[in-house]
Amino acid sequence: MQPIDALICPRWIVRVEPKVHAEEGLALAINGGRILEVLPVAEAERRFAPAARHDRPNHVLMPGLVNAHCHAPMTLMRGLADDMPLEQWLRERIWPAESRWMGPELVADGTRLAVAEMLAGGITCFSDMYFYPDVVGEVAAEAGMRAVLGMIALDLPTAWAADADEYLRKGLELHDRLRSEPLLTAAFAPHAPYTVKDATLNRIRLLADELEVPIHMHVHETAAEVAEAVALTGRRPLRRLEALGLVTPALIGVHATQLEPAEIDMLANAGASVVHCPRSNLKLASGMCPVAALQKAGVNVALGTDGAASNNRLDLWAEMQTAALVGKFVASDATAVAATEALAMATINGARALNLADEIGSLVRGKAADVICVDLSGVEHQPLLDPLSELVYAASRHDVTDVWVAGEHLITRREAVRLDLPAITAAAGRWGQRLRGTTE
Ligand SMILES: [Zn+2]
Repeated sequence: MQPIDALICPRWIVRVEPKVHAEEGLALAINGGRILEVLPVAEAERRFAPAARHDRPNHVLMPGLVNAHCHAPMTLMRGLADDMPLEQWLRERIWPAESRWMGPELVADGTRLAVAEMLAGGITCFSDMYFYPDVVGEVAAEAGMRAVLGMIALDLPTAWAADADEYLRKGLELHDRLRSEPLLTAAFAPHAPYTVKDATLNRIRLLADELEVPIHMHVHETAAEVAEAVALTGRRPLRRLEALGLVTPALIGVHATQLEPAEIDMLANAGASVVHCPRSNLKLASGMCPVAALQKAGVNVALGTDGAASNNRLDLWAEMQTAALVGKFVASDATAVAATEALAMATINGARALNLADEIGSLVRGKAADVICVDLSGVEHQPLLDPLSELVYAASRHDVTDVWVAGEHLITRREAVRLDLPAITAAAGRWGQRLRGTTE
């Protein structure tokens, strides 16, 4: 018998690749942080001597969820400014609070809070865009969570950097340091077309080509943003990005609520990805991403929570449900954004957007063991005719019982083993009072 680290025996396994469907009678063998094999339970028992065996008889085992767009430190601003449009929300509440308190302490405590919430809800990887991405990375590494750190860039001074040169220099230093971090990678994160100049975007494109990293950017979040760009430059922002050579397989365009048919074709032909953040878009009344049309054209669409200040939860189950429901509404088609598609958006599509599809997003031999168990024994899941339907239309993050990242069992029967939750909650409480004081 071959000694291995762990064997998980659930009721169902959803591998996601090559197909999104639920299979019974299978076990997942983990060794050295990686998926060794998905195989029949009886065969696993014959062949393997696991150091730990985890029986989860009422559960689905599936890939960990990938949150493809987040501003983790902003979790401290949850509830700071509700029920106002994006422009007013940013100018009157978020930017004043940030400019007063921005620094590594806010970023560290905010990211700890975000990581605690995301891991408990089955998110094993997040792609972040915020200041002090080095600190975001330190906190993710300390928690054992996978992250794609945004090398943020703006043509505006902040506490993190004075100008584009300094943003890019600090981003590249971070990129170089990550070579020794197994769970962390980097992506360029120019904030948005309206905050980053052509010269900076040109440099980012050249560097992204050279380093082979994605470019993670808010694009066409609101109709006002597009109208303003047209008034100023005569062009829609996506056309400007295309002219700059930024619309490529490396582009991760976030939101994309305003797309003309020709722009959908442009994204499809380029092989670019879109990150759909439906709850943030709904809350800020920004508009809605035409997911079904993008999928029909062949665009890779992933899911993101955006920051907790505009959501107000870092909950990919809520995003999956909303994406499926609103996707049908937007397309006037009940067959649009089916459960299988929503599940792929939250897993493998996120991995593809982040250039991590060889590593995560599906239960395939050799990939990292980033996996979760979801308990479907509750009355709200009965009579349990179709586990995939339960996962997308009825499940919540509270159904997640176990989370592994790179084979490490980080959430065990709903207990977070590496996080100091009382300390995280206390720090969040102190920051909440300070941030509220700034905006009143
Ligand atoms: Zn965002």
